[in-house]
Amino acid sequence: ATPTAVMVATGVGANNGVLIKGGEALERAQKIKYVIFDKTGTLTQGKASVTDAKVFTGMGRGEFLRWVASAEASSEHPLAKAIVEYARHYHFFDEPSATSQTPSRESTVSGWLLDVSDFLALPGRGVKCFVDGKQVLVGNRKLMTESGIAIPDQVEHFVVKLEESAKTGVLVAFDDKIIGVLGIADPLKREAAVVIEGLLKMGVKPVMVTGDNWRTARAVAKEVGIQDVRAEVMPAGKADVIRLFQKDGSIVSMVGDGINDSPALAAADIGMAIGAGTDIAIEAADYVLMRNNLEDVITAIDLSRKTFTRIR
Ligand code: ADP
Ligand code: MG
Repeated sequence: ATPTAVMVATGVGANNGVLIKGGEALERAQKIKYVIFDKTGTLTQGKASVTDAKVFTGMGRGEFLRWVASAEASSEHPLAKAIVEYARHYHFFDEPSATSQTPSRESTVSGWLLDVSDFLALPGRGVKCFVDGKQVLVGNRKLMTESGIAIPDQVEHFVVKLEESAKTGVLVAFDDKIIGVLGIADPLKREAAVVIEGLLKMGVKPVMVTGDNWRTARAVAKEVGIQDVRAEVMPAGKADVIRLFQKDGSIVSMVGDGINDSPALAAADIGMAIGAGTDIAIEAADYVLMRNNLEDVITAIDLSRKTFTRIR
């Protein structure tokens, strides 16, 4: 391709919100063999919401949610935000006794939360802290197991049911005893399945990588049409997954949106940051897909193929 052709392709990309960082990145994209997709916020909308809240003891639902929200209020994790939002809504609007408590002034977020100390965010696991002197753990099985907390059969069954319907189960323990579970759903992006089908037709293999558990990951992958899944990958492990696929010399692309994804975006032959993204993800990427639409992964590969195939 001539320098002019590269310039034209870069311009066409930019007009579609596909920012390409240089001619080399544009040229490499035609050879992509694997596209590794992050799950949360990339294949899914990244708009998690609580769908289930089950308490296994006699504690009232409103009280339970207030404790859980207090523990999660200091976390930046999308699951934590969904939980706090749900609990807040329940407290102010749905609780039988909520009528007199209108969310006003500063009370909207923090006024009803309990005192938290020794807060600890555990990446890939959840959070741990003390709420009003009681130890509270909110997170996945790994968090509970590592803390020596047993998961009763009844709880395990409930979590499995959530996971089989593509939801994430969040376990809650008070003082070393599991007392409740939240179910959280994050819908797929509307175009996701069509894009996966399109990639397969182009001879490109889609893969999904996530920190979420295997059962939820498989359910989501099945919905979207992805066969190859890597789940329960710790935040630092995504880059290792990329290197695994590169081993036989294959050209590998990573598509991701979060801070967690930037080492993987940097490790990939073609890193694609999608959506508003975080600055750090955008910096690590070779492509920035501004529209937050997965169709642009296909646009990016197409553009490269059309620009470079003629001279081969
Ligand atoms: P990803 O961004 O790939 O979905 P993360 O590494 O951020 O994965 O999280 C992996 C898992 O760790 C989540 O699916 C959840 O089970 C658990 N987790 C992490 N942070 C929290 C939190 N603040 N509250 C509850 N669970 C959490
Ligand atoms: Mg993500």
